[in-house]
Amino acid sequence: MKLYNTLSRQIEEFVPHEAGKVKMYTCGPTVYNFAHIGNLRTYLMEDVLEKYLRYRGYDVTRVMNITDIGHLSSDADSGEDKMLLGARREHKTVMELAKFYTDAFFADCEALHIKRPDVVQPATGCVEDFIRVISSLIEKGYAYLAGGNVYFDTSKLKDYHVFFNFKEDDLEVGVREGVGEDGNKRNKNDFVLWFTKSKFEDQALKWESPWGIGYPGWHIECSCIAMKYLGEYVDIHCGGIDNVFPHHTNEIAQSEAYLGHKWCNYWFHVLHLNTAGGKMSKSSGGFLTLKKMGEDGFSPMEYRFFCLLSHYRKSLVYSEENLANAANAYKKLKAKVLSLPEEGELDAEAFARYNKKFTDALDNDLNTSLAVTALYDVVKAKDLNGATARALIADFEKVLSLGLFEKEEEKRAALSAEEIEALIAERAAAKKAKDYAEADRIRAYLAEKGILLTDTPQGTSYTVGK
Ligand code: AMP
Ligand code: ZN
Repeated sequence: MKLYNTLSRQIEEFVPHEAGKVKMYTCGPTVYNFAHIGNLRTYLMEDVLEKYLRYRGYDVTRVMNITDIGHLSSDADSGEDKMLLGARREHKTVMELAKFYTDAFFADCEALHIKRPDVVQPATGCVEDFIRVISSLIEKGYAYLAGGNVYFDTSKLKDYHVFFNFKEDDLEVGVREGVGEDGNKRNKNDFVLWFTKSKFEDQALKWESPWGIGYPGWHIECSCIAMKYLGEYVDIHCGGIDNVFPHHTNEIAQSEAYLGHKWCNYWFHVLHLNTAGGKMSKSSGGFLTLKKMGEDGFSPMEYRFFCLLSHYRKSLVYSEENLANAANAYKKLKAKVLSLPEEGELDAEAFARYNKKFTDALDNDLNTSLAVTALYDVVKAKDLNGATARALIADFEKVLSLGLFEKEEEKRAALSAEEIEALIAERAAAKKAKDYAEADRIRAYLAEKGILLTDTPQGTSYTVGK
């Protein structure tokens, strides 16, 4: 399989560190608000990558962090903590806020058929690991204390700007209007590993550390969580393109300084979902959630289809018209798939022939739009019997996960409103008793029937898939 690697800026043959195994790391969401459909595009394309690697026979271990601490309102270690701002806005504690939006994120993922990573680790659960790695970076001479904070010293690296040859001036990302440069930094790009002093002293969550009571910087969490669960080597590290600098650049700096060798070979970045007004962003407020999209009449599967129609390395322009076109095409495609007759014997030769078009497309830097074309070829084929066409589509669905064989009417009939309400009440009771496994089981059971739950401060509401 060939993949574009942001590190080499080339399409390369993918070769994992250990034959047959793939260690994959994904930067998870910052849980101070709902994910917008731009964030979800990134997770959706990463999901296709993961599923295709599995389809290709790799034994994949995928790890994702949940950023519930340390992500400041500017990527340059300045501004207030996003979690703290969110908690204040919603009159919740930081941990309540994190729990609420983590659940909301995974509910969105479930609705979009995005598989949950094998390991999901909130940053607040790993503070001891951060302290251990930061201590080692200080010992090795890669980090220094200044003004109460611990900084990574970027001048100690031969090559800090591993992704692009930035000009020094272009890198003043950190210093935005109204944000003063941090006088403690020895070099412009140095970044905070541990804060004890920030301009905002009311940080809600703090921990003891050798450098005083404080909290970790944002970047260190991903390095430590990846190492904790994947060991010294990561094969593929994923994220949205905005993460390239400074987040991923800093992850590489500190991980390789700590490990003393190259850390991750392939960097997979998904381009942004933009609106006519520019990049969709959580902090700008005016963004579209999956729920709002549902209210506008679009289903999660229609959005998944919309995303698969374009390549992950091209920015995607969202407009209601574009989405409506994709939604119409999806409805027609699904109707065709459901009407395929269940007749004939599987034709192995034809299966292999059509299957090759699909794998050729995805082998070529995950070309999902061509993979969808391969799917259309099967649906339209005159030389395939029903059994073979159905088998091919079921096979493609292992990767595309478009719910093409799901019959909503049957699902809807499967449970009455009373039964749904009773299950929602059961789930609420399980949550109250801290039996989250049972609560998750009920949510998954309902999702299987096409009933999607949304937790709001007023209680749980549900929608029935179209
Ligand atoms: P956040 O929750 O803000 O940390 O972002 C979660 C993920 O979404 C990260 O991988 C971001 O790079 C990605 N992301 C942010 N904005 C967009 C966008 N407009 N389109 C696609 N991905 C995005
Ligand atoms: Zn990260």
